[in-house]
Amino acid sequence: ALRREDKKVVAVVGAGLVGALNACFFAKRGFEVEVFETREDIRKAKVVKGRSINLALSHRGRTALKHVGMEDKQIVSKGIPMNARMIHSLSGKQSPIPYGKKGQYILSVDRANLNKELLTAAETYPNTKLNFDHKLQDWSAETGLMTFARPHGSKTQTQADLIVGCDGAFSAVRKQFLRRSRFNYSQTYIPHGYMELTMRPRNGEFAMKPNYLHIWPRNTFMMIALPNLDKTFTCTLFMPFEEFEKISTGDEVIEFFQKYFPDAIPLIGAATLRRDYFRLPAQAMVSVKCSPYHIGDKCVLMGDAAHAVVPFYGQGMNAGFEDCIVFDEIMNQFNEDFSAVLPEYSRVRVPDDHAIADLAMYNYVEKNRKIKSFVHFFLKLLDALINSFHPSANIDQVFQVTFTRTRYHVAVERWHWQDKVINRGLLLGAVGAAAGGFYLLI
Ligand code: FAD
Repeated sequence: ALRREDKKVVAVVGAGLVGALNACFFAKRGFEVEVFETREDIRKAKVVKGRSINLALSHRGRTALKHVGMEDKQIVSKGIPMNARMIHSLSGKQSPIPYGKKGQYILSVDRANLNKELLTAAETYPNTKLNFDHKLQDWSAETGLMTFARPHGSKTQTQADLIVGCDGAFSAVRKQFLRRSRFNYSQTYIPHGYMELTMRPRNGEFAMKPNYLHIWPRNTFMMIALPNLDKTFTCTLFMPFEEFEKISTGDEVIEFFQKYFPDAIPLIGAATLRRDYFRLPAQAMVSVKCSPYHIGDKCVLMGDAAHAVVPFYGQGMNAGFEDCIVFDEIMNQFNEDFSAVLPEYSRVRVPDDHAIADLAMYNYVEKNRKIKSFVHFFLKLLDALINSFHPSANIDQVFQVTFTRTRYHVAVERWHWQDKVINRGLLLGAVGAAAGGFYLLI
């Protein structure tokens, strides 16, 4: 990397997926990059706590990785292609739904591995320093002075020219924004929680076909499963907290699975289910929207710190990775002048991140609304029809969101427009709506 004359210091707060990638982007430009992360170094930790074990990496995320030369070598080779969704019916029948075009797939990647690779990549730049066990407590938008809590109660302070808040949905950086005038903020918890269960290999092989995103759509519940390199699947059960709470014994777990996911019982194993269901409580999901994303020329929010989205579109990380590209492009456009780059970044990026947050939430709300209506039964019959020739606007939208870099807000506008046209005809309207009723649109 270049070493710059001006030695400007960029502090990246949070070394999760987006922070670690962003450190590479800034390091490549030759800034003095200091990364501060509350956790210990996950490459050395025995247990890595955090959210979902694996996630779906799609076009936007891959493009961002490519920008820092990371896509192929370390990431794609360790990802498992998912060429289609595999829908599991109540009777155990499995039906694949391929992504729009031939050869298109998304990748199942291991979150911890991706994060570790990104940290190692950031560290290869001599102008980058990773500081673990540093929890941001406070910072000043006037001076760029940050205060960090260290283990054992001590504190340290350090100053930066630019603070990049990549500290996730509960961002400490964002707290300063909340105190300022004309900052818009909203946060919504959905009534669903999620729980992860592991499906182990059988006879040394994957227990189900590996190159699929497996989905069990069931009324207001849903289970999905993504493959891992060690031939396990991580199954994620989404359901309202009140339903999770109704189940309090091993027998009740089996009864519940018998009713809704019978084919999964032998695959996960009854004994494992009885035990693992109670290992960790169901986790909450939050949607956060705010604007603007910057304060003056001192601070900018990216990733979940700026926009936590519900996971039903598989876009949270992908959107966060794309934030890094968009910021980088604006840096080129405005010659790295933070006082011009930051407002432009908010102007350009807020509508897109809000669009994907809305879209992900729309899928969630629609799903629940439709399920409650009896029209759903009729729509279900149409599912097969849609799947056979994919005419609907929604499928086009999934394509644009997942397999292109069409700006999110443009994908949403086109979809609204197409939706209106389609809704003119009763049958076509129903077809469009049924396609929208898919539980997981990735
Ligand atoms: P995080 O991953 O939350 O990282 C934030 C980092 O900041 C953490 O390391 C944290 O320790 C650190 N930190 C926090 N506070 C401080 C502080 N005060 N000081 C210093 N450091 C701090 N996205 C997809 O694209 N595809 C998917 O398939 C997908 N599936 C998902 C499934 C589930 C169940 C969930 C919950 C999310 C899913 N997502 C998915 C979304 C994805 O997980 C997030 O969008 C992504 O993790 C955001 O990365 P981030 O770096 O912004 O935040």
